[in-house]
Amino acid sequence: MRDSGVGADRFSLSALLAAAAEGFGLHEGAAVHALSLKSGLEMDLSVGNALVGFYAEHGHSIEDVVDVFERMSAKDVISWTGLLNGYMEFGLVDMAMDVFDRMPVRNFVTYNAVLTGFNHNKEGVRVTFARKSGLRGLGLFKQMLEDGLEISDVTVTGVLNACAIAAERKMSEQVQAFAIKCGCGSTPWIDAALIDMCIKCGRSGDAHLLFEKWRHEESFHIAWNSLLAASFRDGEYEKALSTFLKMFRSNDVQFIDEFILTTVLGACGALGFAEFGKQMHCFAAKSGLLSAQGVGNAIISMYGKCGALETAVNVFKRMPCRDLVSWNALITSHLLHRQGDEILDLWSQMERLPIKPDSVTFLLVISSCSYTSSNSADKCRELFLSMSSIYGIEPAVEHYAAFVHVLGCWGHFEEAEQLIGKMPFKPSALVWRSLLDSCNRQPNMTMRRLAMRHLLALEPQDPSTYVLASNLYSESARWQCSESTRLKMREKGMRKIPARSWTFHGNSIHSFFARDRSHPQSKDIYAGLDVLILECMKAGYEPDTTFVLHDVEEYQKRHFLMYHSVKLAAMYGLLMSGHGETIRVVKNVRMCGDCHSFLEYTSAATGKEILVRDSAGFHIFRGGKCSCRG
Ligand SMILES: [Zn+2]
Ligand SMILES: [Zn+2]
Repeated sequence: MRDSGVGADRFSLSALLAAAAEGFGLHEGAAVHALSLKSGLEMDLSVGNALVGFYAEHGHSIEDVVDVFERMSAKDVISWTGLLNGYMEFGLVDMAMDVFDRMPVRNFVTYNAVLTGFNHNKEGVRVTFARKSGLRGLGLFKQMLEDGLEISDVTVTGVLNACAIAAERKMSEQVQAFAIKCGCGSTPWIDAALIDMCIKCGRSGDAHLLFEKWRHEESFHIAWNSLLAASFRDGEYEKALSTFLKMFRSNDVQFIDEFILTTVLGACGALGFAEFGKQMHCFAAKSGLLSAQGVGNAIISMYGKCGALETAVNVFKRMPCRDLVSWNALITSHLLHRQGDEILDLWSQMERLPIKPDSVTFLLVISSCSYTSSNSADKCRELFLSMSSIYGIEPAVEHYAAFVHVLGCWGHFEEAEQLIGKMPFKPSALVWRSLLDSCNRQPNMTMRRLAMRHLLALEPQDPSTYVLASNLYSESARWQCSESTRLKMREKGMRKIPARSWTFHGNSIHSFFARDRSHPQSKDIYAGLDVLILECMKAGYEPDTTFVLHDVEEYQKRHFLMYHSVKLAAMYGLLMSGHGETIRVVKNVRMCGDCHSFLEYTSAATGKEILVRDSAGFHIFRGGKCSCRG
């Protein structure tokens, strides 16, 4: 256009920018920006608005958006909404809301931008925050109704999502009634958001009802997707898989697309359900979905989380092309096995590739330095510093926490303390927990107490803090304190997250709580366990009752300890496993020291290999030893 001698005008520039935001990248958009500067049109309202919109989508940082916005001499509701949208796009919800409050005028587009922004930012944020933003979204919707603003499909989807985030059951019923009454036209997206909302608000039955009445045949996979994804996000993996199995067995396999398969593989990984994961791998190969990058990555991650590290490595090697997610999945698999040296090796391979690591990569690689064969604190320091200086990634609190853990693990407590003092934000509970955790590797009573004090001050409401504190006091024989902590806990009506372990047999999941007798074979399990315990005690195993938190007599404590969920699940595995078969158990929280020692003895007594994944990673018990003990 410029070559033909036609001058750029405000309309063509805005149109070009809109096109750049839609289809082109930053480069083209920046060129148009330069052109608008030259022609002096940057100050023009419509060009300025288009620029704000463009940088919100494609800018390097929020500064790009703010820069343009501040230079505009005239601003209208579109400019302000564009700025708000920019903050939302960069995940700065609080600042977006600040813009919302400061705006001179708002219209329905503004409201929709806020609702969409809330939903856009709902994943990966803390639960309390998500709930707050959900409630705020609902409040906005009420305000829209009162102001008589136009309600569109976008608004309805937005408010359904907001309600889902807020997890307000009562409100969800009202919102659903409204969505039906307002006759906004039921699109697959609105119906999918309805299903999602019902599940999030604890109305699982209504969600299935909606699912059965699904009206949009051509987009049936959307319904499946939202049902699966909702159960998956809530950590209800078993539900997600049983929903999927129903579909898989009814031979409706043509609905399985890349996204559904990725979700299912994710559920297999989370549960450690290797057999079913393998079947899904075969299905992917047969259906041609294996070539999809997302599916390939999900398969690596699934094998890694199921403890099949070698298979994960093979899949990775055979991939025709690997992206950052593939590398991160492979590194995660190694981290679960605490293979620090291998990870540092992978990292040096990565450094030579044109792949740019992200903050997840750094978190994994930094964490791996706790598990190297020799002191890698220097390497870790170098990695940590390179994040911002070479890669332009500002370390988040998670990175600091991981670094603190590494320093503690190698005994550099002084430096760890200094690092905590120098952090650009207030050290969170995560940081103190990491310090406390590293004291298990390098016993240091002063650091333990320091971490504990901060944890109690920061998270007085968190049941796990109480358990920790109670344990700490018990260990140092300050029973008085220990008792009062427990009392406080009971007064507040707090309970630990119930520990649960599960194992697999015959393509199904067998799940156990502590002292659980609900399993149909529980008689055999308890009888078998009693025999095994005696066997192990003969070999030198001594039950360690410091891991029991109940205020009971010593003999009762033993009873509680003996039937921890991981022991029950492992026993069931031993009963059902064939010759030479590995027993696989997954536990939702960390197993206690007594269960760990018991399983070491068990692996020697039975000659079997027992693989346990708890929240800290894999433990492979073989011949009386665990892999985590070096
Ligand atoms: Zn235990
Ligand atoms: Zn172990």
